[in-house]
Amino acid sequence: MEECKCEIMKRCTKAIIHKDNLIHNLNEIKKLVSPKTKVCIVVKADAYGHSSVFVATLAETMGFEYLAVATVDEAIELRQAGIKSNIILLSLCTPEEMMAIFEYHIIPLIFSDKYIDLLIHETEIYNQKKNTKEKVDVFLAVDTGMGRIGCSYSESGLQAKKIESSKYLFLKGMCTHFAVSDCIEENDEEYTNLQFDKFKHAIELVRKEGIDPGICSCGSSAVTLNNFEMHLDMIRPGLIIYGYYPNDVTKDYLEKKGRFIDLKPVLSLETKIVAIKHFSKGDSISYGRTFVCEEETDIAILPIGYADGLNRLLSCGGKVSINGHSYPICGRICMDQCMVNLGNNNCDVHLWDKVVIFGPENSGALQDANDLAKICNTISYEILTSLSKRVERIIL
Ligand SMILES: *Cc1c(COP(=O)(O)O)cnc(C)c1O
Repeated sequence: MEECKCEIMKRCTKAIIHKDNLIHNLNEIKKLVSPKTKVCIVVKADAYGHSSVFVATLAETMGFEYLAVATVDEAIELRQAGIKSNIILLSLCTPEEMMAIFEYHIIPLIFSDKYIDLLIHETEIYNQKKNTKEKVDVFLAVDTGMGRIGCSYSESGLQAKKIESSKYLFLKGMCTHFAVSDCIEENDEEYTNLQFDKFKHAIELVRKEGIDPGICSCGSSAVTLNNFEMHLDMIRPGLIIYGYYPNDVTKDYLEKKGRFIDLKPVLSLETKIVAIKHFSKGDSISYGRTFVCEEETDIAILPIGYADGLNRLLSCGGKVSINGHSYPICGRICMDQCMVNLGNNNCDVHLWDKVVIFGPENSGALQDANDLAKICNTISYEILTSLSKRVERIIL
């Protein structure tokens, strides 16, 4: 049979990953951080939608030694792609997933008696089966006020002792996570300082037991930019790698403090116009008939909808960029399509023209994920991680 010579056409709705911008952001982060501090590149949720294998591979070639994921599956995906770096698992796994921790050399966070006992038990079984004496590296998670995973800071000494006394576990480090490090109100800063003090106290309690706390880590993106004294042995930035400032810790805020860091969004979401139709005054557009044409107008139809990750809340107030100009989304965004109002004397916009929903400036976008987040009353994190599987990621 003759081989098909035609190239399979790719869908025009796609996410472009601007590699140069990613490298730029990683270098900006490197510049901020003392060489003594490790940088753990957070690639959970498919690297915030940017393709974790790609980001992890690039980070590895740039000399970063630590990666962080949220699920065992995410770690396995990286290992199967040949990633050799240390991989920290930031969320808890269930007993059924624990074997993968040994098989794929994943570093779990642990903190409770039950969890530690279970891990010791599973490690024993694993070693017996393989006839080995391998230890598992673990991080002791301390809850200093996030109200999520971790032991109370006063328990850290006891937990570390439990870890150290097991012949199967090795205390590789300690970590905590801040609740409001991305906020700059005075009481928020106080809270972060309080959490930091508790963490330092937790580290001291471990040292008092004669145990080396290993790599101590508390900061994510906001701390990376804003609290150098909290960098300790390792920071864990996620969002800033992908080019967004966390909440109040904006570029302007940092500049006022005399810090110049330039982050560039890495991902642009693009599509094409697949039809342009002319409508008369009084015609309605899309479900619910929420948009009624006030005059004769051209409407462009785009093959992108909320199933691609275009939040339905953008039906009201959302815009797109076509040939460098901004046009409003009109009517409700559907699952797979949405409509854009081109106005009543359109001559600039044509069928098959490229449409940029959001992205860095050099992608032709007039807005970024943060602008979309404001309209949707959410955060850039959610806009980025909502992009669905059927939106192909293309590395540029
Ligand atoms: C997600 C996460 C991070 C990264 O947070 P950013 O705000 O994206 O930098 C760091 N540490 C933990 C424990 C996390 O869950």
